[in-house]
Amino acid sequence: MLKVNGITKYYGDFLAVDHLSFEVKPGEIFGLLGVNGAGKTTTFRMIMGLLEPTEGTITLDGKPIDYSVTDQIGFLTEERSLLTKLTVRDQCIYYGTLKGMTQKQIIDRLTELLKRFEISEYMDKPIKQLSKGNQQKVQFITAIINEPKLLILDEPFSGLDPFNVELFKEEIKRMSEAGSMIIFSSHRMEHVELFCKKLVIMLHGKPVIEGYLHDIKEQFRKKNIFIRAEMDVKLLKEIDGVISVEERPDEYEVKIRDNQVVDAVFKIVAKKAKNVTKFVVEEPTLNEIFVAKVGEEYDK
Ligand code: ATP
Repeated sequence: MLKVNGITKYYGDFLAVDHLSFEVKPGEIFGLLGVNGAGKTTTFRMIMGLLEPTEGTITLDGKPIDYSVTDQIGFLTEERSLLTKLTVRDQCIYYGTLKGMTQKQIIDRLTELLKRFEISEYMDKPIKQLSKGNQQKVQFITAIINEPKLLILDEPFSGLDPFNVELFKEEIKRMSEAGSMIIFSSHRMEHVELFCKKLVIMLHGKPVIEGYLHDIKEQFRKKNIFIRAEMDVKLLKEIDGVISVEERPDEYEVKIRDNQVVDAVFKIVAKKAKNVTKFVVEEPTLNEIFVAKVGEEYDK
């Protein structure tokens, strides 16, 4: 298990991470999110052992993270760092060797991964000749060449088309099922929702939301109702507990204070609307929660 316990990081006088704690168990995909400058990269670097926390501890399976455990960690950084003059094979041999793998282990694993990512023909091509998406695949393959126990993925899907996003997702799921601990970071909340049962959202180095996604949604209370019908929108706006009504091309999106308001909205729709073809109550998206919570904290 990865245990991050009260880590704090100062750059000079500037407090970048402020007493952050969380745990990631084998098989878990944990979301570490936040606005720009919230302290995510600083946190990743501390976990990787590249930066020393000013305060607090980080352990992997009970041991502090140092050179003896870096073989078990993989890191896909947001800024790309491929050695583009090298061939895909040589790049992976270089990184795999740094992670303590033998040449045979590296080539066997690379052959399997290139096949899975459908780029076997690029094994002996210089990386600079590959398209941006294929370079991203090589970057990902490099990060997982050693089948890391702990994998940090910072914006893993940037520059990928939807088909390749699916290939990446399958691989991430496969690794989690095999017991890897995965830390996932992205500004795309719809991706985070797909993967992460547990997460933390940071602002100015501190968590503003943390816990299980299910509980976070429960606690947020606000819900959305999608209605497709012919009706006077004013009637919806007048209901006590309705926060807003947005008119979309073919439906209304009604934001409500909590579940208790559903009944009142339903009654009005049943009584006053014509040609009702949709009435769906949905949980708020993580994106809505992120924007609302971070906005609240900014306003404080
Ligand atoms: P983004 O989403 O934009 O990548 P982030 O959450 O990864 O942001 P960090 O890169 O960890 O944020 O930076 C956190 C804060 O620390 C920022 O205000 C940044 O300007 C500051 N910071 C980062 N590195 C240094 C450094 N070496 N010296 C001084 N300040 C730094």
